[in-house]
Amino acid sequence: MNQINLINQLLDDMDTVRPLLLSALPDNSELRATTRRMIAALEQLREQPGIPHATHLWVSQQFAKLLDVHHAPLLRPAFDGTITNDSKESLAAHVQQRQMLTMQALKDIPATHDLLDTSSEMIGEKAGKNESLQKRAQHLHLLLQRHLQHDADLRVELQQLAEAFGPSLNAISGILKQAGEESPELKQATELLERELPKDPDQALVILQQARAGILTAGNKLSSASEKLNETIQSHIESLSTLSKKLEEAESAARNDPLTGLANRRLLDEYLKELGQTVYSCLLIDIDHFKRINDTYGHDVGDEILEQIARMLDKCTRSTDIAARVGGEEFCIIFPGTGTENSTRMAEILRQSIEKKSFGTSAGMIDITASIGLAEHIPGTEHSATFKASDEALYRSKKNGRNRISVALKR
Ligand code: GH3
Ligand code: MG
Ligand code: MG
Repeated sequence: MNQINLINQLLDDMDTVRPLLLSALPDNSELRATTRRMIAALEQLREQPGIPHATHLWVSQQFAKLLDVHHAPLLRPAFDGTITNDSKESLAAHVQQRQMLTMQALKDIPATHDLLDTSSEMIGEKAGKNESLQKRAQHLHLLLQRHLQHDADLRVELQQLAEAFGPSLNAISGILKQAGEESPELKQATELLERELPKDPDQALVILQQARAGILTAGNKLSSASEKLNETIQSHIESLSTLSKKLEEAESAARNDPLTGLANRRLLDEYLKELGQTVYSCLLIDIDHFKRINDTYGHDVGDEILEQIARMLDKCTRSTDIAARVGGEEFCIIFPGTGTENSTRMAEILRQSIEKKSFGTSAGMIDITASIGLAEHIPGTEHSATFKASDEALYRSKKNGRNRISVALKR
């Protein structure tokens, strides 16, 4: 039975009971007033559908008790109108008592108003002044829902914040570990954040603040650790640069002639491999009677001349050409993209420059000549075949009197 029906039922009962009571106790003006107030109270209750259900139930139960239990005889159809004095007194006392309880229940209504308004004010604004109890309750309910949603949103944000801390914490602890530093605060902060945050955003905030304090402490340690680490890194960089310098030297030693600094045979081979199958000219230059120079002036003087020859060859090559020392006093130049005609001209210029130059050495000025053999690479053939062809041409230059150029025969 809903509240309104219950109240209507009670009011009906009162309609039946009141005349009976009044006719049984006609002189009792107190009882007359009390029952009137009871009816008024019930009517007022009916006008306030928003009052707590429990209050309603309680009031209704009291009325039901009043009507059914103690004074059931009054309601019986067989009631003959005679009531004992005891019954009368008991009835009056009960009615009085119930009336007090009813009034108390009515007093509950303003108290409920206050409670709703104060609660509403705590989390938002209170409802309009003239709103019914029900409207006020609905208003509070709405505010509560919004408040809970807000809390839920806040919690999600806090959870995301906690998760965002994760990578930074890992990075910090990684660096600290590398620097040989321990940070129990960081460990604690990580543990705090790894746990599910409490539902209550206030508690979640406390956890985040604790974690933040741990991170700050770890951060301080980090800055001193990073200084230490920096020093280590610096020394690593230094030894690395020494190493790379050594490596560079070793690489250069492996590919360059230590006396002249020109490319050696190995670098020449790599160069040709990279050049691939394209037209180029290969010049082999061999100093004439070099043994004599060594024999006359000494090996060191011979070296001085080799170094100067190397510089000459280096000067007459472009950045895309290569000049290499391929034997004791034998040199090779590759002119990529250059056929026999042009390279013969360049070889001639070179031969003449060597012939005309007086080489200044510690033993004085020395004149030398050189013989040159020249071959054009035929794409699709081995580089070694081209080298061999220029060597054969060189041999002919020597055979034909030295200080000359020979071009490889058609192959
Ligand atoms: P030609 O080539 O005109 O036939 O006579 P050559 O005397 O130059 O010929 P040969 O190949 O017989 O001699 C080459 C000499 O080069 C032998 C060696 O003493 C000298 N030689 C080889 N390597 C070096 C070196 O690194 N420094 C010096 N100073 N001499 C070297
Ligand atoms: Mg030689
Ligand atoms: Mg020679």
